[in-house]
Parts: sequence; C-alpha cells; structure tokens
Amino acid sequence: MGYKIRKIKAREVLDSRGNPTIEVGLKTDSCCARAIVPSGASTGVHEALELRDGNKKRYLGKGVLKAANNVNKIISKKIIGFDCRKQREIDNALIELDGTENKSRLGANAILGVSMAACKAGALCSDKKLYEHIQKMSSAKKMLLPIPQMNVINSGRHAGIENDIQEHMIMPVGFKKFSDALRAGVETYHALKNILKKKYGAKSILLGDEGGFAPPIENVEGRLELLLKAIGEAGYSGKIKLALDCAASEFFDDNVGNQRRRESKILGLSETKSRQFPSISKNLKVFDKKGIYKILNKKYSQGRLVDFYKSLEKRYPVISIEDGMSQDDWDGWDLLNRELGKKIQIVGDDLLVTNILRIKKALNENACNALLLKVNQIGTVTEAIDAASIAFKNKWNVIVSHRSGETEDSFIADLCVGIGANQCKFGAPARSERTAKYNRLLKIEEKQGNKAKFAEF
Ligand code: PEP
Ligand code: MG
Repeated sequence: MGYKIRKIKAREVLDSRGNPTIEVGLKTDSCCARAIVPSGASTGVHEALELRDGNKKRYLGKGVLKAANNVNKIISKKIIGFDCRKQREIDNALIELDGTENKSRLGANAILGVSMAACKAGALCSDKKLYEHIQKMSSAKKMLLPIPQMNVINSGRHAGIENDIQEHMIMPVGFKKFSDALRAGVETYHALKNILKKKYGAKSILLGDEGGFAPPIENVEGRLELLLKAIGEAGYSGKIKLALDCAASEFFDDNVGNQRRRESKILGLSETKSRQFPSISKNLKVFDKKGIYKILNKKYSQGRLVDFYKSLEKRYPVISIEDGMSQDDWDGWDLLNRELGKKIQIVGDDLLVTNILRIKKALNENACNALLLKVNQIGTVTEAIDAASIAFKNKWNVIVSHRSGETEDSFIADLCVGIGANQCKFGAPARSERTAKYNRLLKIEEKQGNKAKFAEF
C-alpha cells in the first residue's frame, strides 16, 4: 500500500549554466519525489545520449521538450504501477523500453530523471534516509563520508579555454571528520582567492563552471604552486594534497575527431548533435594512434605526456590524476598506469563512462585504478550502483562526481554515502549547485553522529 507509482511528470527546468534540463516529479499514494538531471560539457563520446531538441529557435537548440515528452507520453505508461522500492525492476523496464545501447531513443536524461525520482520515492515511502535506501540496494558493507576533491582552479572547457588541463583540485586527506576536511578546503579556497586577487587583480577571481577560479596563468606548475601557497597560508600544509582532472580527450587531436568534425560539417550538424547519429560514429575510422596531445600550445606524444605527469608527481603532492589520457588511447592509459599507478590514483572518467563493459575492458587492460562515477553517463541508478560494485570488487577507489552543469538536486551526496565511496568530486565549495551537495554531506554526518566514518586515502 502506498508504494505503487501513480503519476510521473517531466518538465523543462534550468541547470547551473542556464541550459535546459529535465526535472521529473513522481507520485505514489503516500509520497511525492522530484529529481533533476545534471549535464556535462567535456562529455565522453561513449556516454549515454543526452537528448536535446536541436531546434535553434529555442535555447540555442538545447531544449529538452522531446525528452520531457518521452517521459510524459511513453515512459510514464510503462512505469506507472511499479512498486517504487523496486529500483532494479524499474530500471530494467526503462532500459528495455528504450532498447538502444546508449539510451538514444528516449534519451538518457529522460530515463535518469525517472530512475532518480523513483529512488527518492522508494526512500520516502519506506521511511528511510535516501543514503540508507541506496545502501540497501548496493553491495556496500559500510557507509562512508567521502574525501572531497575540490576543483578550485578551473580551466579548459569549463572556463572557455581550449587545450588545457581542466581541473586543479585540493584533497583534504589529513582529517578525522568530513566537516573538518570541508572547512579546511573552504579556508584554502578563500586563501587562494586573496592570493590571486593581490597578484593578478580582480579578473583573476572570476569563476569557471564548477565554482573554482579561472586565473590567466598559462602554466600548470604555476597553478600548483599557487595551490600549495594557499594551503600553507590557510595552515594546512601536508594535510591537503593535490589532484588533477586533465580531461585529456579535450586536448587530444586525433584523426577520428577531425573526421567527426568534417562529417558533422557536411551534414550541417554540431559535433555534439552528430553524436546522436550512431551511423556517423560507425563510419569513423578506429582510434588513430598517431594523434597528438596539445596543452597550452605545447605538443606531447603519449610518452612525453606521461613523462610530464611523472615530473608533476615528483615535484608536487599530486595524489590523483583523472583522464590523463584520451578516452580511446588504451595504449596511453596502459603506459600511464604502469608508470604511475602504483604510486597514485589513476582515475577513468571519459575512459569508463560509468559503463560496466568499459570498466571490464579497463580491468583486463590494467588501464587505471579508480572509477569516476557519474549517474548521467550511464542513465540509471541501478547501472551506476553496479558499476561501483565491480570497481570495489577489484579494489578500485570510486569517486562519485557531479557534472559541470549541475542543479540544486543533492542526490549524488546520498548516492556517494550509500554506496560507500571513499571520495566525492562536487566542485569548488562555492555556488549553490555545488554547496547543495556539501551541505547534504554535513547533514548526513550530523545525523550519523558517532557512527559517522570519514574515509581514508
Ligand atoms: C569531468 O570531466 O569530470 C566533469 C565533471 O566535467 P563535465 O561534467 O563537463 O564532463
Ligand atoms: Mg573528468
């Protein structure tokens, strides 16, 4: 009684970049839940498809009315009547209804909105906290408050800059409690702001998409030096380490990318839009190993790039590198993980796209040692939980991540605690769409009281 889904309604709302996204409301007789779907900018080509209208007259083609319509007219018919606590059954029905490999018929955004809303309703109707409800569905033995990777210097696609390392993060690892670690990160963020303003002027503290600063410093080492200075001034030397998300797919120039650009142009489609037409991707040649990486006008072969990362690791306390190589450069990943994987965390984001098949391939090829988990890369809560399980089974770390386009929805904070992930990546500790997640973690820590356990690195 009260668990049956009675009504599902999707609508178009806005994300933190001012782009449309899907919100889904879901009702049973006894509860009502809402979920909003995030959206990436440096998206991997193997991600599930985010369905956009393409009608340039509305929101520059980024409307999501088709996806909302798919929820309201097609998905709701199938899912109404399901027990909202049966997440796996609901998600399987969604996957089957879509019937494509990358959720391109109904849209991963449409599907995920329903999946997340059902998950929230399942928790509410069973009178459980969302993280407790998620823990029951996952293989997690213990819940953890995660170590945050806080992106305090933004560049690359998130700051309107081509060919650059995307995220320069601080990781407060030397603390006993999540709230203490968060505080240290926040104080360092403010110390960095003061240093930047004094040294480079007011323009240097303008913010990128994830709430970090986007200063005009054209050199990765210079940025890392500044982070160390800020950590020192805030009084946390040694207790806060560094992490990078290079997002190397964005600065890898391969012939496949060039071919996609050419074909998109011929068809009059944007490159993003062209991803909606699998025929284009199928016609593409396989990954071309002769591609070259370009960071801030410097060119690197695979080997040179790995050497560059090794030199950063030697000179700075960098303990995690995400997407150091491009999404299909399996040889490059193999090299990177062989050279650095025993010392530091090597994280797959665009490489893995939270997809079990790609995670298995990466395990076989020993390509990395940690999974970045983004629910909208795969499109259902169950598949995301399964992706985490296989990573944990193989002793990988799991980092639950936001997208650069976020919303007030704090679902991923509960997801992170519920699956027992030891890290989260929710951006800078500023801007409500980011702090919503940190604030939720603070509340969970308070709720758990003495039982709250802060993760270790
Ligand atoms: C990332 O690359 O890890 C990220 C959060 O960016 P986006 O959401 O743009 O893919
Ligand atoms: Mg990334």
